[in-house]
Amino acid sequence: MQEEPYFYHPLENIEDIDEFETAVERTHLTKGLSKERPYTYWTLELYDQENGIRGGGGLGVLAADTRRIAEQMGVDFALITPFYPSEPHQVMQGETVVDEHVPVDYRNFGFKYIDSVNVKCAGNLCHLDVIEKCFRSTRIICITEPNFGELYSGMSGSDHRLYQEVSLGFGGYAALKLLGLKPAIMQLNEVATFFAALSRLDELASNGMDFYEAVVYTRKHTLYTNHTLVQAAEAEFSEEQFERFVYPNLKSPAVRKWIKDKFVNGKLKLSSVAIEIAELRSGVSKLHARVANYHDIAGNKVKFKAVTNGIDMNKWVLPSILKFYHENNIVDNINYPANNFVDNLGCITAEQIRSLKSEGRKILNEVLSSRPDQNGVFLHFNDDEFVFDFKRRFVDYKRPELPFKDLNRLKAILESANAHYILAGRIHTGDHNMAEKLHKILHEIKKDDYLSTHVHYIADYDEKLAFALSCGSNVAINVPIVGLEACGTSWMKDIANLNLLISTHDGGVADASSENYLSVRGSTEDDELGELYRRMEEAIAAWQNDFDLEFLIQKQLAAYIPVISGSRMMRDYLDYLFPA
Ligand SMILES: *Cc1c(COP(=O)(O)O)cnc(C)c1O
Repeated sequence: MQEEPYFYHPLENIEDIDEFETAVERTHLTKGLSKERPYTYWTLELYDQENGIRGGGGLGVLAADTRRIAEQMGVDFALITPFYPSEPHQVMQGETVVDEHVPVDYRNFGFKYIDSVNVKCAGNLCHLDVIEKCFRSTRIICITEPNFGELYSGMSGSDHRLYQEVSLGFGGYAALKLLGLKPAIMQLNEVATFFAALSRLDELASNGMDFYEAVVYTRKHTLYTNHTLVQAAEAEFSEEQFERFVYPNLKSPAVRKWIKDKFVNGKLKLSSVAIEIAELRSGVSKLHARVANYHDIAGNKVKFKAVTNGIDMNKWVLPSILKFYHENNIVDNINYPANNFVDNLGCITAEQIRSLKSEGRKILNEVLSSRPDQNGVFLHFNDDEFVFDFKRRFVDYKRPELPFKDLNRLKAILESANAHYILAGRIHTGDHNMAEKLHKILHEIKKDDYLSTHVHYIADYDEKLAFALSCGSNVAINVPIVGLEACGTSWMKDIANLNLLISTHDGGVADASSENYLSVRGSTEDDELGELYRRMEEAIAAWQNDFDLEFLIQKQLAAYIPVISGSRMMRDYLDYLFPA
């Protein structure tokens, strides 16, 4: 920063001089975590159906898991997110998936109304309700209003998105003040939450802190967590949009000038300013942190600290399997890998695996009893029936269509074990390409009597279905184009629930070596496809052989229990944020 600040106030003017100094030293910050000074986690997306909030996919699942893990570990933690008054669901109409919109009322989910806050938008004062729900050391704080819209409604550079993002940032920051909370740290779950950090910078700079010191302070206390690989793909906002939605909410002319200067040809990518305002930056797997291609304004490549996502095992692992892990000293009481957990895995027998999976199958059957497949059939699988699943958001890079490239081969594999193949996954609203791909798969399948009764699509993929499939199927298929998956967490649910994993070596799967699961490698898609089919045959054979089943399940768990463990993730974040 070369220019003189607009206002200069000596540091003595602010109440937080000690705080400022410790922040600059970055040493004793842990002491700073308390009920009034929580770890704050900002996210536009939360996937927490129990609490009335349905997300879009992994980003929201991660946010909900992070909050629950903080609760289990007693970390003072506040998650700030919108409460969307409407949520999209998907239903089948013939071979096509269509969206339905369902209103949601926060009063039905135990949220308490606190008060309202205002943000300025396009010449209007918008009132946002602040609502809160507490869970021991943690809480969810939401801002909401009847016209807030749905998650990811509209285009990503649209006015409405900017309105939602500005509301969360400025409204959410005002909500914290209303509740008497000061963030010890602000974790930005993706760049859409940038305005929370901007709001803090603006508060410091307009309350007497010198602008440069305010920048330093905000930077030291902000962690930007990136989930996207390429900066180029990110949406941009125009300066004209900022004039209507952002500048009216800024009190400090210095902050306004700071952000104005970041526009290039009248456009701004939020990542470029998120990088400026957050000294702490993380990626969500080892591979992702290494390959994420981001540059700061000066053109230097940005380094990301790898903190691989984990899952809340209390939520995602079948209770009897989790009990088994606890009793055999595989994970401890906060689901952190136990000492000697690898040795302790040696006790798992094929008989136990089959008996635990049979309990999981009951859950799958229960969930499927109210969710028909594309033919309107309510499925039920006996313990001896073999089930493959592919369950994940339908986006191009995840390649849901890959196993259907050679229908004869797929059919031969399924016939060899009388196996079923379940597809589940949400298509992003407006993604006609993926809707067409699904339509085509279902259309082709329908022409064959065997495939049409052994390949099933279950609509409206959500947490319940994700859990049921990971508990109740035998083999999970995860084949993103290598290099495009940031982490992925559904494969973690599968490994933890004793499924065999067939996967390409990508995202968090690549945290360990490809020797540890049924890996799909190849330099062309045809090679990968051949490998995928061979792995499917291998998986069928392994479930018919006790020795192989034990060996493969133990190997998966030995390599991935530490990756999967959500408390491991939380400790990694705390170590990064509050170094000893
Ligand atoms: C676990 C989960 C995800 C995460 O999916 P990935 O493709 O592994 O990132 C997405 N949606 C739902 C409903 C989930 O339960």
